[in-house]
Amino acid sequence: MFEVILKELTLEEKIGMIHGNGLFCTKAVPRLGIPAIRFSDGPMGVRQEFENDKWNAIGNHDDQVSYLPSNSALAASWNRELAYKIGKVLGEETRGRGKDVILAPGINIKRSPLCGRNFEYMSEDPYLTGEMAVPVIQGIQESDVSACVKHFAVNNQETERLWVEALVDDRAMHEIYLPAFQKAVQEGGSYSIMGAYNRYKGEHGCESKLMLNKVLRDEWKYDGLIVSDWGGVHSTKEAATSALDVEMSVTDNFDEYCMAEPLKRAVQNGEIDEALIDMKVRNILRLMNRLHMLAPEGVNAAAGYEMILCSNDGKQAKRSRGSYNTAEHHMTSLEAARESIVLLKNEKQHLPLNQDQLKKVLVIGDNADRMHSSGGGSAEIKALYEITPLMGIEQLLGGNTEVTYLQGYFADNCTQSESDVNWQADSLENGGGRMAADTAVSAGLKNVQKNLREEAVNYALDRSYDAVILIGGQNHQQDLEGQDRQDMKLPYGQDELIAAVLKARPDTVVVLTSGSPVEMPWIREADTVVWQWYAGMEGGTALAEVLFGEVNPSGKLPETFPVHLEDCPAHRIGEFPGTSTVDYKEGIFVGYRYFDSFQVPVLFPFGHGLSYTEFVYKDLEIVQNTESDKGTVQVRLNVTNTGNLCGKETVQIYVGRTEQKSEAELSRRLAADAEELQHLHVCKELKGFEKAELDAGETKMLLIELDQNAFAYYEEEKQAFVRESGRYSVYAGSSSADIRLEKTVELIFD
Ligand code: BGC
Repeated sequence: MFEVILKELTLEEKIGMIHGNGLFCTKAVPRLGIPAIRFSDGPMGVRQEFENDKWNAIGNHDDQVSYLPSNSALAASWNRELAYKIGKVLGEETRGRGKDVILAPGINIKRSPLCGRNFEYMSEDPYLTGEMAVPVIQGIQESDVSACVKHFAVNNQETERLWVEALVDDRAMHEIYLPAFQKAVQEGGSYSIMGAYNRYKGEHGCESKLMLNKVLRDEWKYDGLIVSDWGGVHSTKEAATSALDVEMSVTDNFDEYCMAEPLKRAVQNGEIDEALIDMKVRNILRLMNRLHMLAPEGVNAAAGYEMILCSNDGKQAKRSRGSYNTAEHHMTSLEAARESIVLLKNEKQHLPLNQDQLKKVLVIGDNADRMHSSGGGSAEIKALYEITPLMGIEQLLGGNTEVTYLQGYFADNCTQSESDVNWQADSLENGGGRMAADTAVSAGLKNVQKNLREEAVNYALDRSYDAVILIGGQNHQQDLEGQDRQDMKLPYGQDELIAAVLKARPDTVVVLTSGSPVEMPWIREADTVVWQWYAGMEGGTALAEVLFGEVNPSGKLPETFPVHLEDCPAHRIGEFPGTSTVDYKEGIFVGYRYFDSFQVPVLFPFGHGLSYTEFVYKDLEIVQNTESDKGTVQVRLNVTNTGNLCGKETVQIYVGRTEQKSEAELSRRLAADAEELQHLHVCKELKGFEKAELDAGETKMLLIELDQNAFAYYEEEKQAFVRESGRYSVYAGSSSADIRLEKTVELIFD
């Protein structure tokens, strides 16, 4: 289809199209009306403008944007329609800012709670990740811009991220680490995908014949654009002969990139066949055509060129113009923030707080008054505004309530976006990571924390406060690209602070803002715990609405919160972050698949999240479709809201092999030896979910379809997914640990 253009292009021009000619763009061919591709980060909005060849922010005010909830927050909503709406906002803003490709969403699996980029990723579960990623991608691409799912694949840590070799068995690869990517490209139709920095089976992700040529192109029939992660290409020959289309990097020596002059010379010397470059250029032109970028007014086009530019009706397609910072975008960000908040604990029903009865409220904690948008690495956002929790609370309570704010703890060395910028310029050093921050706490700092803590306790003891709200957690010093956390503890001495405040005031509402789980040694003393992710520009508004009962919380954890770090499978077997290699010996036993199958107690299970109302599940029915959709299964059940408040519930459907359950139990008793794990089935896996809104007293019948993959597992010997006829257990749960209904069915597969 693009042969006419291809014939016109010189080698030099083609080379210009397949590598960065700026930190975020390729080279245009103006004489043929071929524009540059303009990329931008990243999942939470469109990133600020940089100089073309330096990591210096331009610094104008026209690149402030809508700041959206992180992928971890969005996943916690378990709401596909909302994911689509957020995608739509991101796409409109991308186009509105004049970009072509938005480097999002990040869909790597959360293998360990310590991965610094977990806040950018969705879940420990491939099904949930895929289900949420597809509508995000579809929403983005409605605006004639491309999503770019990243980082393909097994990019599950930041330590040594440029070089680490991930040793993953084929079963885990196919059941855990690949399915969300497959869904993203096949169902979501992502027009582009980004390779991973790390190595797998001896190849770097961005030049991998196995991952890019075999899996993506041959097996998945992917015809979209494959772009490298920034600086992820190491060899001209490997990159040129792989299915990678565009090499991007972080340095300004654009002509020296592997797929620039070195590649041109290799073609001229006859070492590399020019046909390989033509394949890349075809994929680039296909992307441009999909995005209606090829509109060369005034260009004396060759015959046939016109045809490409016209849609079926013969008219030249008009490219969407996009928009950014619209009031509607801000409202969608708020909507998503509301649904992402997870009510972890509300034992004595302190929440919601009754705003009319509050004369004086005490708010403690650095995160109450902190803006997070400008941190995190490449996901940083220059937000038009960001409502902090403190501002959200004060806005909602208005002038009739006196709000006192105390910092509670000192969050030292918090970066500004400036230093992140510098960091990315050097991000090919240190194995692709940052130098570990000095976590040693000086005596002076200890004193500061002690004074702040004592002040907080003294205020908390003052009974004239009608409510005490402690808002802590992490910030982008911990949830950060280029660096994994050292442990799962709350930073800045917050465990001591929270314990002391709870002692002084047991009804304190504890709110944690964070992109990844933390240990909560004080959990028994806390009756009320609310979890908020990095929630975008309206995060503070949403939090206040939940605390004061204007919104009924409905978020559910997209990942397990372990009690201790050592309980996590990768850590229990000592395989995170590894050295030059990291062995995923836990196989498919990632997240709840491990905790459930091996009955390891958790702090909060996967899928957990409370509401201010109650839901009752009834009448579970499982029907195997017989005719057209043979092999698929329909799950039906009734859900009733038995409380007196409207609310939303996410019903989760898990599937397990009944026979294998006992096998897993047996093996558990044999102790969790990693080798044994390879041959087991997990006791149950998420295969469907539906979020429903129910008025007080209302009952709804939910219909959830389980597709053929719900009953398949990957058999290494056959190198294929297989489905066995037999008895399966189907569970309907409010979390992976709170199973309300269960049925065993006999399923026959051909
Ligand atoms: C990150 C990518 C990001 C790219 C461009 C890399 O460091 O890994 O996720 O899109 O930089 O900023």
